[in-house]
Amino acid sequence: DESVTVLELSQAMGKTVTDIIKKLMQLGVLATINQEIDADTASILAADWGITVEVKKSVTAEEILAEEPDETDEDLIHRPPVVTVMGHVDHGKTSLLDAIRETNVIASEAGGITQHIGAYQVEIDGKKITFLDTPGHEAFTAMRARGAQVTDIAVLVVAADDGVMPQTVEAINHAKAAGVPIVVAINKIDKPDATPDRVKQELTEYGLVVEEWGGDTITVPVSAKARQNIDQLLEMILLVAEVQDLKANPERAARGTVIEAQLDKGRGPVATVLVQKGTLNIGDVIVAGTAVGKVRAMVDDKGRRVKKADPSMPVEVLGLSDVPQAGDTFSVVTEEKLAKQVISERVNKRKEEEQKRTSKVSLDDLFKQI
Ligand code: GDP
Ligand code: MG
Repeated sequence: DESVTVLELSQAMGKTVTDIIKKLMQLGVLATINQEIDADTASILAADWGITVEVKKSVTAEEILAEEPDETDEDLIHRPPVVTVMGHVDHGKTSLLDAIRETNVIASEAGGITQHIGAYQVEIDGKKITFLDTPGHEAFTAMRARGAQVTDIAVLVVAADDGVMPQTVEAINHAKAAGVPIVVAINKIDKPDATPDRVKQELTEYGLVVEEWGGDTITVPVSAKARQNIDQLLEMILLVAEVQDLKANPERAARGTVIEAQLDKGRGPVATVLVQKGTLNIGDVIVAGTAVGKVRAMVDDKGRRVKKADPSMPVEVLGLSDVPQAGDTFSVVTEEKLAKQVISERVNKRKEEEQKRTSKVSLDDLFKQI
C-alpha cells in the first residue's frame, strides 16, 4: 500500500508532470496531477527511463524508538540477575523476600532503612542480585502478557510440610514457558513435620529432577522464619546467573520496564523502574507507556537519592507526566518530538484494542441472546 502522487513522482524523477501522465497513458492508466500511483506502476514507468524505484516503508515512531545502537561484545559487562519468587499461597514467598532483604541489610549496613519500592538489590561476596518484591504470579504474568521479560531466574518456594500444590505447578509452567531457570527453595524446614525428600519426589513429576538424583534442578532447604540457609540460596542463585552469563551495555541510552507505579500526593507520579539496558541518569527524558517526563530525581531501594541507575538496578523515578502501568517499557528519548509521536501512536493503539474488545463483547453477547 505504498504510493506516490504524479506530482511527487515527477519531482523525484526530474520529469515534467506531462511526461509522467503521457507515460501512464501508454500503460493504460488515466491520471491527474494528484493521482496516487502504486509502487509497482511507478517502477514500470521509471524503468522506461532507466530509473529504479526504491520503495521505502513508512516508519512508525515506535519503530524508531525500538532501534538498538550498534554494539560489540566489548561494550557488554556483567549485570546482576533479576529474580522473581514464586510458589503456592502461604508457602512463604513474602517471608523469604523479607528474610533475604533483612539478612542482607544487617550484614551490609546496620540501621539502614529499607524502602518498599517493588524491587530491591542485595549483595553477597561483592556480587549483586535484584529481587522483584512482588511475590505471586500476577506480576510475572501481567508483565509477560505485556511483552516484558524481566526475570532471569525464578525461585520456586515449596513448603516442606505441604509439598507441591496447584500454584506450585502453575509457577513451574510459567517459568518453563518463559524459558527461565528455576531454583527451588524448600521452605519451612524448621517445622517438625517437614519432609523435604517428599517435595523432591513430587517435583520429579513435573520434570524437575534434583541434582542428587542425577538431574539439574538446584534445591536449597531453607527456613524463612528461622533465617536458615538464606546465604546458601543466594549463592546458588549467583551460580545459576554465572552460567547464564548475563550482560548489558551500560554506555547507552537506558531502557527497561516499569515494575510498579502510583500517584503520590506530594511527589506526583512515581514509578519504580528496572533498568535493563544502559544507564539512566537524572535529566534524561523518558517515555514510559503513555507517560513522558524528565527524570527529576531517583531514589534507590535503601531510600537514598541517586544520580544514575545501571543495568539490573531498580529505582524510583520522579518527574513523569502520568502514572504508567506495571509492565510498561520505558526508554530514554533524545527528541521530545519523537516522544510525543510514540505516545500518540500508543494511545491510538490502545483505543483500537479497546474498540476491538468491546465490539467482540457485543458480538458475543449477540450470539448468547440467539
Ligand atoms: P506467601 O503467601 O507465600 O507469601 O507466604 P507467607 O510468607 O505469607 O507465609 C505464610 C505463613 O507461613 C506465615 O504464617 C509465615 O509466618 C509462615 N512461614 C513462612 N516461612 C516459614 C518458615 O520457614 N517456617 C515456618 N515455621 N513458618 C513459615
Ligand atoms: Mg505473600
